[in-house]
Amino acid sequence: MDVQYNFCPACAHPLEDGERFGRTRRICPRCGFVYFREPKVAVAVLVEDERGRVLLVRRAVVPALGRWALPSGFMDYDEEPRAAAQREVAEETGLQVHIGEVLDVATLAQEDGRQGVVIFFAGQPSGGRLRPGDDVSEVRWFAADEIPRDELAFSGTQCLLERWQGRIEDRGLRAGEG
Ligand SMILES: [Zn+2]
Repeated sequence: MDVQYNFCPACAHPLEDGERFGRTRRICPRCGFVYFREPKVAVAVLVEDERGRVLLVRRAVVPALGRWALPSGFMDYDEEPRAAAQREVAEETGLQVHIGEVLDVATLAQEDGRQGVVIFFAGQPSGGRLRPGDDVSEVRWFAADEIPRDELAFSGTQCLLERWQGRIEDRGLRAGEG
């Protein structure tokens, strides 16, 4: 839930609305603290194995309980994005991964109406053993033609997986031609 701050977190004086940096923000008239409402940042990883399959997790938490998603989660305030991506994959799937290129950056609409940002990375497995971990009831590899389209969790994930399926099919065609 998006908390409306009433008291200064620095000095406990009541906050007021005030004009700062181009818009109305909660400010502290005593110590000058300014409350910036900022988007949360999440990371998600499209992990692909050497057989051209993608790693999906079945969510055991809301939102999208019971639906399939990419391994993902929120960054901690002091984390490096790729380290957060590695951590989330390890926590949810048991696998160690190499984090590669950024595939997309998208808006993350949260259930409470707040906005966030999600960074999608490519990843390759480098070790570990597959097992459902934190917040996940099932984890498995899907070939491009096995993606459970009707059971995917988020629209951003659907778009990314459709693009990925297209690339896999292109690769298959080129391999067939060569
Ligand atoms: Zn204050």
